[in-house]
Amino acid sequence: MTSRTTQRLYYDDSFAREFQAEVLSCVPFKPERDSAASAPAWSLTLDRTLFYPTSGGQPHDRGRIDDAKVLDVLDEGDMILHIVDKPLSAGSVKGAVDWERRFDHMQQHTGQHLLSAIFLEHHGLPTVSFHLGAELSTIDLRGTEPSPASLEAVEHAVNQVIFEDRPITVKYGTAPELSQMGVRKQVERTGVLRAIEIEGVDLQPCGGTHLKSTGQIGLLLIRRCAKIRQDWRFEFVCGQRTQRAAHADFQLLRRVAERFNCALADILSTADRILSERDTLHKTVQLITQRLAEAEASVILQSTPVSPNGTRLISRLIQGVEPGYLVPFATQLAQAEKTVALLVHQDSGNLVFAQHPSAGMDMNGLLRQVLEKLGGKGGGTRDFARGRLNDAAQSAHALDAAREIVQPATTKTENPVT
Ligand SMILES: [Zn+2]
Repeated sequence: MTSRTTQRLYYDDSFAREFQAEVLSCVPFKPERDSAASAPAWSLTLDRTLFYPTSGGQPHDRGRIDDAKVLDVLDEGDMILHIVDKPLSAGSVKGAVDWERRFDHMQQHTGQHLLSAIFLEHHGLPTVSFHLGAELSTIDLRGTEPSPASLEAVEHAVNQVIFEDRPITVKYGTAPELSQMGVRKQVERTGVLRAIEIEGVDLQPCGGTHLKSTGQIGLLLIRRCAKIRQDWRFEFVCGQRTQRAAHADFQLLRRVAERFNCALADILSTADRILSERDTLHKTVQLITQRLAEAEASVILQSTPVSPNGTRLISRLIQGVEPGYLVPFATQLAQAEKTVALLVHQDSGNLVFAQHPSAGMDMNGLLRQVLEKLGGKGGGTRDFARGRLNDAAQSAHALDAAREIVQPATTKTENPVT
């Protein structure tokens, strides 16, 4: 490797898209991580570049250098490594940055500086980290949670600065010089530093690429807020992403209104009405299920006498109803003296074993034996146990197995399917 330095052309002109440079080196690249996705790649260094490397929360640029595709850009101190998909030979090359991607990053990054500055000014909340994602960007703020009303005020103030189209400039200076210019953040690094100024609003040390004026941010929208350990994480979008987010929100609302067959303005009242109807229906279904379980249990108990061995065994493979029916049905059956109810839901493999305490068996033990034999999960008490087979196709076998254990040598009773 050469000891030379890559000149970072994007420091002074973040709007230049194409450049000429000399190849310093080009060697096969072996990624330390993600080695699974290893199409052959080369690490290319140039004497100068417009390609921004992943750093400071801003992702790397993409684009082309001659006919090679730039897959990744790494900051290696004095050098910038361009990870490319084919080798380039020594000499002069032409680079072109994927402008759509870069401009989007600039909109989000400048938007972040502005949003952080307004949060600090309005609420004294410092930004402790920034992430620029493919869809959403986030900042983490430390301090007390801002109220929804104050968030709206922050959003309003940010967009006010955007509409004022204030100039954005790059400043250079040592840490004490920058501090004198108004940089509030403590900077550890020595030598000449770079800072970004939004006129009258913010001066921030930063190595990123930024817009020329705040108007280019377009519009900023604060989206969700979530508590992340001790900090508040705010999602936000700027520029074209704001248009996409607003469009997607509206399309979603439109589809919901269509589904509800109501006007957009009535979505909330319609949803409330539907939810309240659902609750009423749920209560009605529970009531009817209970009544049905009582009626069905009564008919079965009347037609099933206590056997000579002193128990009344009722076993059913159940279908045509929800698995939830097994519990009230078994509960009703087990209210009769000496009764054991073995219910298996055919389609789902749910099992409920219940007994009147006078039957004197162990339903939990019985369930365990059946599940051990056929596979599944569950548990319960001596009088009531429920579970589920891993394989619903074993439902009939599970019922047979339970019956065998309860009534080993006697003749099997009829077990019609309900
Ligand atoms: Zn920055």
